[in-house]
Amino acid sequence: MEALIFEKPYTLVLKEIQKPKIEKNEICLKMKAAAICGTDLRVYKGEKTKGIRKPSIIGHEFSGEVAEVGDKIIDFKIGDRVGVAPVISCGKCYCCLNDLENICINRMAIGYEFDGAFAEYIKIPSVAIESGNVFKLSDKVSFEEAALLEPLSCCINGHNKCKIKIKTDVLIIGAGPIGLMHLQLAKISGARVFTSEPNSKRRKIAESLGADILIDPQKEDLSKIIMENTNNQGVDVVIMVIGIDRMLNDLLTLIKKGGILNLFAGFQKESVSNIDPNLIHYNEINIIGSSAMKLRNYITAIKLIEENKINLKSLITDVYSLSEYEKAFSKALKNESIKIVFQD
Ligand SMILES: [Zn+2]
Ligand SMILES: [Zn+2]
Repeated sequence: MEALIFEKPYTLVLKEIQKPKIEKNEICLKMKAAAICGTDLRVYKGEKTKGIRKPSIIGHEFSGEVAEVGDKIIDFKIGDRVGVAPVISCGKCYCCLNDLENICINRMAIGYEFDGAFAEYIKIPSVAIESGNVFKLSDKVSFEEAALLEPLSCCINGHNKCKIKIKTDVLIIGAGPIGLMHLQLAKISGARVFTSEPNSKRRKIAESLGADILIDPQKEDLSKIIMENTNNQGVDVVIMVIGIDRMLNDLLTLIKKGGILNLFAGFQKESVSNIDPNLIHYNEINIIGSSAMKLRNYITAIKLIEENKINLKSLITDVYSLSEYEKAFSKALKNESIKIVFQD
């Protein structure tokens, strides 16, 4: 089969390799759609190394069709359409036992410790099947949408921690795929959404998806706009979907007393941020983080797509075959697209 092999930073090679052999408790999927994630780009650039083997096949946002099942598999049959939650938690550690399976100490993931989806076929390890990470899809969910269920699930996890209700004022910093998912989730909850994004194409998509107030932070005064529109009180919630540490203190000044700052994006290794602690103390601001997803978030994500509540299709701006990987990655690195998907 064809597989895109990550050999070392900045080196991906399309190779003909053996199709994975499955054990009796495993299944093999024909890849139908696999999206390039920001994390894949960080792996490609050598910025993310944890859990990354060299050489290996990366890609963790995917869907497929069951092509082969092991003798002991009863829940799946050849031809089933499935989406896979890539992160496998252990179920036993402190985090797993305290409703924090998303940040399981012993977590493993397809696309990291296990070979991922940038290939014609993907082996799903037994531990993923036993943990319930493989979900059958109805015809209401396309393979392309299913490839984005994982990032949407991560957003649902982050969204749930922000306590967004009707008329909550939410500011989203960044309107890439993740920002645009957060935007839609906040709108479903009844929020008024401010979106700050320098790229005009992305602002346009944010507008079409319901953003109430759009800000170009390079040309406009973000702070002034927020204060003018909130009676000088600031917004209830800020969600940072880009990891720029030097922005933290400015963002703290835009939050209403008792509000929430959610650090949703990962920051560069060894980032340190200078913040005025009195902004937190006197205003009782809650700084929270959110990382990865829980399986129940994946189930919610499927329902939202089935019920047409979230538009993922408009986030898919480019579709390529695996053989066009050079074009796909160079486009992804230029940040010109929203979501790039490889298709079978
Ligand atoms: Zn991802
Ligand atoms: Zn665990």
